[in-house]
Amino acid sequence: MSRYWSDFVNRLKPYVPGEQPVAGQKLVKLNTNENPFGPSPRVLAALKAQLDDSLRLYPDPESRQLRGAIAALYEVEANQVFVGNGSDEVLAHIFNGLLRHAEPVLLPEVSYSFYPVYCQLFGIERVDIPLDADFKVAVGAFRQPNGGIVVANPNAPTGVCLGLAEVEQLLRQNVDSVVVIDEAYIDFGGESAIALVNRYPNLLVVQTLSKSRSLAGLRVGFAVGQRDLIDALERVKNSFNSYPLDRLAQTAAQAAIEDREWFQQCRSRVIANREALTLGLAQLGFEVLPSAANFVFARHPEHDAAVLLAALREQGVIVRHFRRPSSIAQFLRISVGTESQQGALFRVLENLIPGH
Ligand SMILES: *Cc1c(COP(=O)(O)O)cnc(C)c1O
Repeated sequence: MSRYWSDFVNRLKPYVPGEQPVAGQKLVKLNTNENPFGPSPRVLAALKAQLDDSLRLYPDPESRQLRGAIAALYEVEANQVFVGNGSDEVLAHIFNGLLRHAEPVLLPEVSYSFYPVYCQLFGIERVDIPLDADFKVAVGAFRQPNGGIVVANPNAPTGVCLGLAEVEQLLRQNVDSVVVIDEAYIDFGGESAIALVNRYPNLLVVQTLSKSRSLAGLRVGFAVGQRDLIDALERVKNSFNSYPLDRLAQTAAQAAIEDREWFQQCRSRVIANREALTLGLAQLGFEVLPSAANFVFARHPEHDAAVLLAALREQGVIVRHFRRPSSIAQFLRISVGTESQQGALFRVLENLIPGH
């Protein structure tokens, strides 16, 4: 609070990202769903090749080569692709440019906690739709009049995934509003709705290079949809920042998209480690929701989540805990790690949860 702040700024409740340890702090970091494996060597080579005097020049404001590479991968036109400084920024432009209507936006009650923050920032009313009894997004409940729908698929922080038939149901139930499917984790086990964009003019799919392409530090995300939705995002972007992706980000992201082999290997390793993580937690008595992501969401019937979180932190292992809503207050979200990180997690848990 400051006397120089506007009332609006005073009232903001910003998003709080997970802890990022300072360099040198030795923590087993399983709290923000980064990829445990590094990016493609072609990314590093592309970055090094870009480090020259050309940095004095502005980057391509339209990121044409990167958008071309994404379009080629998903078999759409380049003008159906919008890129931004992380999918968080892409989502911000979507809320601002496409979801600001008289009717409220519908969100799953348990979902990515940035969505309500954007609603607040852009003055958008929202209605939270509870999950079903299996912690799945209740597609049939998204029927009331709305100014748009945003669903993460696989959902965060549950990891539970909808099939494409359920995504289509959501689209057909809501032909008059934009349905945003945030696929930050889709590469770890779901089917992308990008396959549907040319059939559904109300569909916008958002993805990121932060998770499945190991580039959280580079900040690149994108949206794919029909051209008029993409044009709306371009209008907002060009009214805010013409150069959201710098030269390094554009080149490196393009190399990451083009190295399909590295991507396939890396995601297979993440999926294998997720299965080992799930099994190990189940053996310790945790209930683990079925995850299609690079994290699992788990609760223990006899151990309080906040107590476990603190005990793990004490031993140098960081995971994430969301206190609200109350239906998920006993769950911990644990990112898939390397074999050695997961080994460290289990050594601590086996001491905290004896008798299993
Ligand atoms: C990580 C994440 C994002 C943000 O990704 P960035 O591209 O790193 O900004 C968006 N949506 C969900 C559901 C996420 O988990």
